[in-house]
Amino acid sequence: MFNTRDKMKAYDVRPIKSLGQNFLTDSDVVENILDTAELGPEDLVIEIGPGLGIMTDAMAERAGFVCAVEIDKHLMEPLGVIKALHSNVEIINNDILKVDIKKEIVEKYLEPLGLKRIKVVANLPYYITTPIIMSLLEMELPKLEKMVFMVQKEVGQRMTAKPGGKDYGALSVSVKYFSESSIAFIVPPHCFIPQPGVDSCVVKLDIRKEAPFELKDRDYFFKVVKASFSQRRKMLTNSLANASYIGVDRQKVLEALSVMGKDEKIRGETLSPEEFGQLADLLCKKFEN
Ligand code: SAM
Repeated sequence: MFNTRDKMKAYDVRPIKSLGQNFLTDSDVVENILDTAELGPEDLVIEIGPGLGIMTDAMAERAGFVCAVEIDKHLMEPLGVIKALHSNVEIINNDILKVDIKKEIVEKYLEPLGLKRIKVVANLPYYITTPIIMSLLEMELPKLEKMVFMVQKEVGQRMTAKPGGKDYGALSVSVKYFSESSIAFIVPPHCFIPQPGVDSCVVKLDIRKEAPFELKDRDYFFKVVKASFSQRRKMLTNSLANASYIGVDRQKVLEALSVMGKDEKIRGETLSPEEFGQLADLLCKKFEN
């Protein structure tokens, strides 16, 4: 049985706050995460931030192979012990945002080991949750089927929010574009050491095999989404006209909204992801004659 406190003592691990080190202590939570990820022997798991290895250890029992990327060199000793216990574990000591995931992980382990799909599973460091999730989604890894993340509850609510509410924003639209998402369960602070100041939740993203709607220019769509939520209190027309990277004036936005049958005073949070797609296509100059 994995005991986080004993491991910390044995390896003299003092949690580093700036690295978002809140180690899980509760093995039931770990089991629930593994169940949510529906891990099986044909899965290549990419784990971000294994910490002391509580999830790595459990995942190695169920998955085909686990490749875990940990930034903190002080954790290489306890993680080395987990690797020695399982022939299907590899540890990379690096910043996940600097790892070439396709080259260093997917090409090395997926087909060569006869594995069929990729799952990303992580108790994420909360200080860089959004950049990690966005870079993984935008990478469009082949055979990526599921991502299961422990995040702050509030971030989980933003990821899975529907149009119209206060939680709905650029992150919700992006997550929806790439996946079907849901909050699997809530995790209270006492399941970690040290305890975070907020509740956490486990979010499941089932990655779409095909885009949910057609777009003329996907990068431009994401720019429109970003600009639309950049000044939440402003009307959409102003937010878009004020963002120089969108390259349109107020009149052009008004024309597009009129084509869509939308009121000129609407705010960004009222549009669904698909409506953002229509708007981006109408504003996109690249394909105009
Ligand atoms: N998975 C462990 C657990 O559940 O107990 C630890 C989770 S802890 C919330 C986040 C982990 O991510 C820490 O071990 C931290 O050192 C690591 N980490 C922080 N920033 C990272 C980065 N940029 N790349 C990879 N790992 C990172």
